[in-house]
Amino acid sequence: MQYIYILLLGGNLGNVTQTFEEAISLIKKKGELNSKTSLYKTAPWGFDEQVPLFYNQAIEIMTDYEPMEFLDFLQEVEKTLGREEKTHNNRYTSRTIDIDILFCGNIVMNTPRLTIPHPQIQNRRFVLEPLNEKWSHFIHPVLHKDVATLLGNCNDCSEVSLD
Ligand code: AMP
Repeated sequence: MQYIYILLLGGNLGNVTQTFEEAISLIKKKGELNSKTSLYKTAPWGFDEQVPLFYNQAIEIMTDYEPMEFLDFLQEVEKTLGREEKTHNNRYTSRTIDIDILFCGNIVMNTPRLTIPHPQIQNRRFVLEPLNEKWSHFIHPVLHKDVATLLGNCNDCSEVSLD
């Protein structure tokens, strides 16, 4: 069975563009890259102190890895590319790369390790702006609204711009 994932890459440390390229080339080994968005710059979200700008890019990949296996693989990629482990009392930390599964076709799942669609999509402009570049008509399988509508309804006022 083939699964179509939309992933969001994020990071703000080191040479982010190069790290994203390395991540994409590792991910491509496990399937077929259908598309990737431009690179977006975002004011850091959930941070109090001054930290480097965040970069985000969304990609669509077709693979026969089922969701839990694919999460294991993506976490290996994060480790390989030097992501720092998160601490419990500091939910958001600077990182070289973070890879989130946003959608997996119309699959809906909710387990302690993995929630698909990603539960914060509708609340974060830095997710919705890249999504809207390529998948504006994609219907969120839980909220039953397309990406363009979710973006129009989003209350997050962070500044997201093309790099
Ligand atoms: P974050 O720091 O936001 O990347 O969170 C990573 C943690 O979220 C991991 O422990 C994952 O098991 C969990 N998680 C739950 N749902 C997802 C998802 N859709 N994509 C990536 N990680 C997820």
